[in-house]
Amino acid sequence: MGLMTDSPGRRRVLLASPRGYCAGVDRAVIAVEKALEQYGAPIYVRHEIVHNKYVVQTLEKKGAIFVEQTDEVPPGNIVMFSAHGVAPTVHDEAAAGRLATIDATCPLVTKVHKEAVRFADEDYDILLIGHEGHEEVIGTSGEAPDHIQLVDGPEDVAKVEVRDPSKVVWLSQTTLSVDETMETVGALKEKFPQLISPPSDDICYATQNRQLAVKEMGAQAELVIVVGSRNSSNSKRLVEVAKLAGSAAAYLVDFADEIEEGWLDGVSTVGVTSGASVPDVLVEQVLEWLSQRGFEDVEIVKAAEESITFSLPKELRRDLREEAAALVAERTGGGAQA
Ligand code: SF4
Repeated sequence: MGLMTDSPGRRRVLLASPRGYCAGVDRAVIAVEKALEQYGAPIYVRHEIVHNKYVVQTLEKKGAIFVEQTDEVPPGNIVMFSAHGVAPTVHDEAAAGRLATIDATCPLVTKVHKEAVRFADEDYDILLIGHEGHEEVIGTSGEAPDHIQLVDGPEDVAKVEVRDPSKVVWLSQTTLSVDETMETVGALKEKFPQLISPPSDDICYATQNRQLAVKEMGAQAELVIVVGSRNSSNSKRLVEVAKLAGSAAAYLVDFADEIEEGWLDGVSTVGVTSGASVPDVLVEQVLEWLSQRGFEDVEIVKAAEESITFSLPKELRRDLREEAAALVAERTGGGAQA
């Protein structure tokens, strides 16, 4: 990294802080590594543990096997649930399939699940703001399918119907755009003035902080490069927020070699950030790519301090290979002879 100068034609990089790994992703990735270390390969993981190509490929090399559905895992194995969370029916499927489980759901997603259960118990209609088909939304909806309906942005509000307008609450996916969510909430409140808000923010601290930093950066950069995968909700939101903040262009890339030379035409300030599921090594490669093209000065744009960490899933303290074998023995009657 070079020193800042004010010479004309200066090319600079604004580097967002915070960026990259959040506490929930860090915990989930370490959980897979620990499970491989403790129990040996294979460890099955339902869905991508976090939405990042590089992370998934790296864990695959170490012995993780990613599956779409629990029934793809042979009985007697260990399956881990991803940071995005799962519906209770998925736990039931794992039990029926004689699998030992590790739940790497981010505690901040679990918090939303608990809110959903509580409001459903109190017979509220729950309006879940989120993106249709996203794993987290599927998992949260599965906690109370009879009480939850999805609202995928302000344009969805017109079609929302509730049983009792005085008993309605909104919850949200953790990785949404803060501003767009507030727009949706505003539209919902117009329709249902007695709408209740969640007890605390559902959009998590990491999503909010990364958006704050990119907002600041987007106002100063002509181009913003967001490192992240296309199926990563929080990374895609960073691209949108950068453009709304004023950046003429913003792109999502998994790897530095996806950056196109033409994106730099007429650009003197490039913003760089990364989604919550992105290891910093990928950002370093982007900085290196930019530095080779004269963008050597790197200035940090700091929007917040982060110090949150989560403890590892408690299941990692148990002998899950033994548990999985016992589950299979129970089915075949082998356990009775032990
Ligand atoms: S983005 Fe937020 S909710 Fe999702 S894993 Fe990270 S900390 Fe948890």
